[in-house]
Amino acid sequence: MDLQETKAAVLAQIDRRAGEALDVAKHILNTPEPGFREQGTSRFVAQKLSELGIPFEDGLALTGLKGMMTGGKSGPTVGVFGELDSLIVPGHPFADPETHAAHACGHHTQIGSLLTVAMGLQAPGVLESLAGRVALLVVPAEEFIEIEYRDGLRSQSKLEFLGGKSEFVKLGVMDDVDIAMMTHTENQDWRYTPGTKLGVGANNNGMIAKRIQFNGVASHAGGSPHLGVNALNAANIALMAIHAQRETFRDDESIRIHPIITKGGTVVSSVPADVRMETFVRGSTIESYMAAGKKVDRALRAGAMAVGASVDISTIPGYTPLAQDETLTEIYVSNAAQLVGADKIARMGHRSGSTDMGDISQIMPAIHPYVAAATGKAHGNDYVVLDYELAVTTAGKAMAMTIVDLLFDDAQRANSIVRDFQGGMTRSGYLSWLRDIYSEETYTE
Ligand SMILES: [Zn+2]
Repeated sequence: MDLQETKAAVLAQIDRRAGEALDVAKHILNTPEPGFREQGTSRFVAQKLSELGIPFEDGLALTGLKGMMTGGKSGPTVGVFGELDSLIVPGHPFADPETHAAHACGHHTQIGSLLTVAMGLQAPGVLESLAGRVALLVVPAEEFIEIEYRDGLRSQSKLEFLGGKSEFVKLGVMDDVDIAMMTHTENQDWRYTPGTKLGVGANNNGMIAKRIQFNGVASHAGGSPHLGVNALNAANIALMAIHAQRETFRDDESIRIHPIITKGGTVVSSVPADVRMETFVRGSTIESYMAAGKKVDRALRAGAMAVGASVDISTIPGYTPLAQDETLTEIYVSNAAQLVGADKIARMGHRSGSTDMGDISQIMPAIHPYVAAATGKAHGNDYVVLDYELAVTTAGKAMAMTIVDLLFDDAQRANSIVRDFQGGMTRSGYLSWLRDIYSEETYTE
């Protein structure tokens, strides 16, 4: 088979089996589990990989899996990610009634598109004609949530980092992967020309996270507040002080700081003595969000000092900015255009959200296209995937065709992309950079 015949075989196989991958996505929609708790989803995907006869490892970063498909000749390895995790969004129409876990970011479709790739490449004669391997990277915990819970797993040495892809890098899961890709959903009603199906080339903010605890002194809130130190007042002043930094951030830094109070006191009749917060500090460059993080620390400290409380600040490494490989993007676009039409593909600019695909993009050539398959507000209680065919079938087809291009002809295209990659960081440099971000500080009057 020549290149075009190989792609045609992949597409025909996907058309035959598309229903199975759609069923997988819809099953996962109804069994949502947040990051590092995806045991049921992990078992379900393991069963699907077994049914496809694909060898895999499991238990990676607690719930992750890695399947491997091997071509006819040796060559580089292309990894395809599918994220296992949900968010927690009470009131979402597909939320778990007890845990409120809900797929409000569309990750359930990613497992579908990953299995679509796998089934397509199983078309007779396809793998034999490729030089290299395809790693199916079923990864936990893209959403950086439940920081206290994950920090607990860290103190039990079950994790070192709080995002799934960083853990994959640390565990060596990515050591034999040379190029990576995945597809994420987006809202159909996005800012591009109406009817746009796909977006490529976005660069996303990076971020760090902070866990904060204000420590005051409890006393009778009515009878003797003068004997107490009000940690909630410290937190309120700190929040105002953070807001007072905002005019100092440049537009091109795209700084986003969005704290929440996770504990506001203990009982209403006591002066709050233990008040806890979490926040992200995001920005378009590492330098910008690290500098903004220092301003946040200053503001937190000011809140504590104002009322005579103390504050503990834990700084936690998050995700690096996303930088997508341009050559890989063009190969992807040439294939996706055959599926949706070139005029339905948007060139995306900067995005102020973050993803741990950013981390992967710093250490190897990577792409993270978006498919406009959903309606509602991402991470909101109305974010629902409408166009499963686009999110699962078309997304899978475009990635599978791209993989054929990369690994055909003795993997010439993949090899040249790997050779030309000007990565931000080496893998070991990346890990030591993350470790250096961890810090614990206490400020007392
Ligand atoms: Zn997401």
